[in-house]
Amino acid sequence: MTQTEGAVAAAGWDYSPAPERTRPDIESEYGLFIDGEFRKSRSGKVFDTINPATGERLARIAQADEADVDAAMAAARSAGPKWARMKGRERGKYLFRLARRIQECSRELAVLETMDGGKPIKESRDVDLPLVAQHFFYHAGWADKLQWAFAGRPVRPRGVCGQIIPWNFPLLMAAWKLAPALACGNTVVLKPAETTPLTALHLARLMQEIDLPPGVVNIVTGFGETGRLVATHSAVRKVAFTGSTGVGRTLMQETAGREIPLTLELGGKSPNIVFADAAIDQAIEGVVGGIWFNQGHVCCAGSRLFVEESILETFVSALRDRMKQLRVGDPLDKNTDIGAINSEGQLERIRSLVRTGQEEGAILHDVQAEPLPKKGCWFPPCFFTGVQPSHTVAREEIFGPVLSVMSFRTPEEAIRRANATPYGLAAGIWTDKGSKIFEIASRMDAGIVWCNSYNQFDAAAPFGGVKESGFGREGGLHGLRAYVR
Ligand code: NAD
Ligand code: MN
Repeated sequence: MTQTEGAVAAAGWDYSPAPERTRPDIESEYGLFIDGEFRKSRSGKVFDTINPATGERLARIAQADEADVDAAMAAARSAGPKWARMKGRERGKYLFRLARRIQECSRELAVLETMDGGKPIKESRDVDLPLVAQHFFYHAGWADKLQWAFAGRPVRPRGVCGQIIPWNFPLLMAAWKLAPALACGNTVVLKPAETTPLTALHLARLMQEIDLPPGVVNIVTGFGETGRLVATHSAVRKVAFTGSTGVGRTLMQETAGREIPLTLELGGKSPNIVFADAAIDQAIEGVVGGIWFNQGHVCCAGSRLFVEESILETFVSALRDRMKQLRVGDPLDKNTDIGAINSEGQLERIRSLVRTGQEEGAILHDVQAEPLPKKGCWFPPCFFTGVQPSHTVAREEIFGPVLSVMSFRTPEEAIRRANATPYGLAAGIWTDKGSKIFEIASRMDAGIVWCNSYNQFDAAAPFGGVKESGFGREGGLHGLRAYVR
């Protein structure tokens, strides 16, 4: 019996492969999107974006340096006054048109997202793309209602916005940043992550198709240095960043003293707290979705699990059984639960933190029976038990499919330990008692608290953290505030 057959027999069932057949048309080379057109970088420099599931190059991408960022800023600045003067309902029409084009192209965009970043197609198709369209629809609706959003106060755009986004939700993060900025009458220079630039560039094509005025959105691709140039440019009137806490700190220093409003959405080490009176099967699904969604590449991932001591053994054994059923493999297969790790660099970070966890004495549970693919970046879902609060895996963000399981005896202890982290993005509470939910939710140091659910997103609900998870909110009425004066 092969290893795969062994796993199939152990699980008792299996699916046939279900590869996605849609193939987006990927060009061999992409320019920078400046003033409504694609152009080569001044230096002619390019870099590769690869498919992390195969290790193959998907395309060459122009690398923007200072002259290119200057050109993008100049385009954004000169497009600004006309876009800002335009009636809200006219701006709204562009956003509605873009949202509809995204829906029409959603299958291709989902496949492209999965190829460039490694996330399973069922997530990019059923989660990312619907939310991307929703964000543009939602903000299109605000464009002509800003006087009601900020009643009694005149509302003016800020001007040119510099926006820098990460690789875990490439198109969704672009939508979160672009939609409110445009609805409020700002123009934008956007810097996608170096490992996942393709969907933003295809979004730029859709902007051309809907005749968005040139210069309203400009996209400059490149590495961290390109991001730094965007954030520190003298034309910028607002900076928005999502990514690591380290870079967030640097950006605070660099924008300090310039009166440039900054919003930061950084990392997390979010807790899921499961009480003995919770609906256990439901809690297992929530915990699994909380940590193993998008390979754990989620800023609000529920990466710390606190289980009430009386059900610890039962819960851990149910968790192990559920974990065995997760299918790791080809992200373009519709049956895949866990796709590829986004990059070699991220894979190395995850491996090294897991090694540290073992060295410090936590017990690793890795039950993936199927062999991992030979090429590409992979890490099997796993969890640690025997975790002490001082262990690195209890404190540091891993940003991978690794869960740290701990226990508690009283609600007070759960609250204290859940809050004992420099981060404060999200938290999950699982209990049958409404009173417990209200009490504990109100005492969590977290921007978002989910009760008997996890990872619920909506364009109308503000998202953001406290403490070292950043500040500012994205989405909802609160998210508009950063983009107006
Ligand atoms: P990163 O913060 O380095 O990258 C995020 C974005 O910032 C990218 O577009 C990058 O090019 C850009 N950038 C990098 N250095 C910059 C600088 N000095 N100035 C301006 N922009 C800069 O993140 P990473 O290295 O790709 O990932 C490292 C860790 O960050 C992960 O392990 C994870 O913990 C965290 N992370 C968090 C999120 C989130 O959603 N909160 C997303 C991605 C990564
Ligand atoms: Mn890529």
